[in-house]
Amino acid sequence: MPTQADVMEKIVALCRRRGFIFGSSEIYGGIGGFWDYGPLGTELKRNIKDAWWNDCVRNPPPGPNGIEYQMVGVDCSIIMNPKVWEASGHVGGFKDPMISCRQERCKKLFRADKLFIIGFYDQADIDDAEPVIEEAQGIATRDRQEANTLIQSLPHSHIPRFMKTLEADTPEDAVSQVPFDSLSHSVRRQFRGNPCPACWRLDRPLPPSWPPARCPICGGELTEARAFNLMFETHAGALQDSSSKVYLRPETAQGIFVNFPNVVKTSRVRLPFGIAQIGKAFRNEINPRNYTFRSREFEQYEIEFFCHPSEAAMWYEYWRDLRHKWYVDLGLRSDKLRLRDHEANELAHYAESCADVEYDFPFGLSELEGIANRTDFDLKAHIEKSGKDLSYFDDQRKERYVPYVIEPSGGVDRSVLAFITEAYTMDEDRASPEFMNFHPRLAPIKAAVFPLVAKDGLPEIAEPVYREIKKHVPCQYEAKQSIGKRYARMDEAGTPFCFTVDGQTKEDDTLTVRDRNDASQIRIDKSRCVEYLRDRLGL
Ligand code: ATP
Repeated sequence: MPTQADVMEKIVALCRRRGFIFGSSEIYGGIGGFWDYGPLGTELKRNIKDAWWNDCVRNPPPGPNGIEYQMVGVDCSIIMNPKVWEASGHVGGFKDPMISCRQERCKKLFRADKLFIIGFYDQADIDDAEPVIEEAQGIATRDRQEANTLIQSLPHSHIPRFMKTLEADTPEDAVSQVPFDSLSHSVRRQFRGNPCPACWRLDRPLPPSWPPARCPICGGELTEARAFNLMFETHAGALQDSSSKVYLRPETAQGIFVNFPNVVKTSRVRLPFGIAQIGKAFRNEINPRNYTFRSREFEQYEIEFFCHPSEAAMWYEYWRDLRHKWYVDLGLRSDKLRLRDHEANELAHYAESCADVEYDFPFGLSELEGIANRTDFDLKAHIEKSGKDLSYFDDQRKERYVPYVIEPSGGVDRSVLAFITEAYTMDEDRASPEFMNFHPRLAPIKAAVFPLVAKDGLPEIAEPVYREIKKHVPCQYEAKQSIGKRYARMDEAGTPFCFTVDGQTKEDDTLTVRDRNDASQIRIDKSRCVEYLRDRLGL
């Protein structure tokens, strides 16, 4: 029985071998946290984005009680006025506290929250946590490092309460506590399996001296926790000083918020409506890992759905369920997919409710998408910072207000990885033991046409069949190699059907159709290939 790590290794190897995913700039040794999609991966990713755009923007189902609503798209710049990121709380706030090992040989970086959490695990409760919490709260507003050191001495059951109190007492500072907001959430999740702190793989044993007062990798001395801004910085223009400093966007959402009034004025949308965007986002992740799951450059698909505050709870539930169903409909049918509502103490201070769509990868249960009721937090933050009026006049209700926002925010690359993981199937009894069971909408190639041998007039019959099919769906033609090898290649690419022209075709115009999933074959008339694909692929 292969371990989860073996399965992951096989998936990575197949993705590399068949051109789904390569490491970026491999000929120079690669670069951590950056990936390239090869020919098959590019088609797969495009199919996922197209499915999302079609199902969420061009043709979404009706809302609750059959309400029709509008969805429109934007495609915003990656570099924006830095004030956007001040208003959103990313400048100054979007930081992970980091601890590194002082040992020259090691220098390993750890997310402080993760290290602390691990440190808390299994520690006996201290008798009276109250004075420590109070002291840490006081200090946290002045000096994060000192507070971090202090909360190390708390047992982990007290952390959520510490965070909660901190948020309530100091709202501005709460923004700068972003990584801590998610602590209680991660605590429970990461603890269950005692993952390795360096790679988060569950199958690595923990170091014997635990919790770590020293580096869990080499035993070296650790630095204090330091803030580490996750935004990539660069300069716009010739001058390279603080006045020209700009950031690569860490999320696509803010482009939508700042364009809210433009869209309202120019496209005649009426509330409730949504604005969608697919695009690149960049985060200088401390510890990119788990293949493409945590990358430094990735793509997001995000919707900001604007509605009247009184209807926000209803739309939140609608989007939460719809987004979960979307993954199921596209093939994440196994019990590895979960919809998890956040508990009250996990919510960011601006969010009224939040749920994650999670997938149980070989490296553990991890978030694909978050759906949140973000209230009027973002629009109000931009109103305050820009001094512009981003409120909305509702002519049905005869009322002016700042809309509430429901945000389904997902990662395209994480979806690609989930669809690949789910599709990956091993069957040692077949000639081709590995195949990708992609949903027909997502399969990079939908059909292949082969002459059984590259002679005897068979290519002359197969080529026109191929040319006809590729007018309708992505199709490949292959005449060389043994037929078994050609089938195996198509199985690994996840191609649902292969049509093979053989000696009998010359006699009765029929060819064989082979089904990827069970390798069964039937004969059909060669003029019926397109019709057959339409029926079977549901396209
Ligand atoms: P995580 O807790 O895993 O870092 P997050 O909660 O910070 O994720 P969001 O800020 O909510 O993520 O971003 C929305 C979506 O963007 C996530 O659900 C995820 O699919 C994707 N995403 C975020 N960070 C990354 C990353 N480093 N690599 C790939 N996708 C990412």
